[in-house]
Amino acid sequence: MSIKKLNKDVFKSFVDSMIASDQSVVGVKEKVQAKGNKFAFGPLENADQLRLDYDVTLIPPKKYMLPQTETLLTYEVKGESKQHVDEQKLILVGVHPYDMIAINQMDELFSQDEYDTHYMTRRNNITVIACDVVNASENIFASSMETAVVEKGFDILLTDLGKGKEYVAEAITEKGEALLATAVDATDADDKDIAKRSAIQEANKKDLDKHTLNCKPSELSSLLEQAYEHPVWEEKAKTCFSCGSCNTTCPTCYCFDVQDLVNWNLKDGQRERSWDGCLLKDFANVAGDHNFRKQKESRFRHRLYRKGKYVPTKIGGQVACVGCGRCVGACVPDIANPVAVYNRLLEDIKP
Ligand code: SF4
Ligand code: SF4
Repeated sequence: MSIKKLNKDVFKSFVDSMIASDQSVVGVKEKVQAKGNKFAFGPLENADQLRLDYDVTLIPPKKYMLPQTETLLTYEVKGESKQHVDEQKLILVGVHPYDMIAINQMDELFSQDEYDTHYMTRRNNITVIACDVVNASENIFASSMETAVVEKGFDILLTDLGKGKEYVAEAITEKGEALLATAVDATDADDKDIAKRSAIQEANKKDLDKHTLNCKPSELSSLLEQAYEHPVWEEKAKTCFSCGSCNTTCPTCYCFDVQDLVNWNLKDGQRERSWDGCLLKDFANVAGDHNFRKQKESRFRHRLYRKGKYVPTKIGGQVACVGCGRCVGACVPDIANPVAVYNRLLEDIKP
């Protein structure tokens, strides 16, 4: 597969030609907000809107594979039901390595056991253009979680060699190769360009670390095996609002709720699924109003166990925290940072 070099103008024409094609194109844009501007994925109308120098997006790109709310099927109460599967083609531009790794994890989870047709159809119709980080966000700790660079899952990987003046673009799939071929006037990257890219990636492996985990991610599972009754769960959960922001902003949280909604005519309706979050009070509420995680501390503990122990046992040891830092910024009482909790446990327990 090819590795190309695109100067600023060639890159701009490449993005504009994607936008002019019959596929929808979504990328990272600046979002004007009351408390300082932030970044978010949204539909691109022209190349100038694309901001590959972003630090982190408010919501991760998982929303394009697993929307906040979707209709799974519509039905008639006394008749047929019809499955709804979204087959729209999409190009997703500017996915950071840690978010790409989170998508790779969801791909594994949604294709094992019960294959999820809705998620997987969307995923297979998305062409992903990933990009290396050029500006670290204030809470990133991807270096600690070994997610600062990514090697698979994307179709094209872009690396900015210097303030948006030049990019190296590597296609690793046939879809990516075909798309990159539309970058008219791109030249082959030479050894010097590839060496520059390696230097950027090696630096990111060390420097994207605003919070440092005091053990290897692979040691978290054995740490947690000994931590179920530790006082940290109660200490931290005391100030938890059960707002669920740490779940909804997380690229690796994929829990959902499914509801059958009957229309006012009582003749038909739809089955919808929406994001759910294990920190929400009703998450573990079941029929008969039994809640098997009624206490805040048990919900708080569950989230950290899920990231460090439960999900890794399902996907070959991969930790379900990729160090994006979104939960750290989203949590008003400042208790959601997984590194702070795991490091607190490490003070008392040897993994
Ligand atoms: S737990 Fe927090 S830092 Fe880790 S992936 Fe989720 S949002 Fe990002
Ligand atoms: S964001 Fe903070 S306050 Fe809200 S549920 Fe998560 S830990 Fe609790």
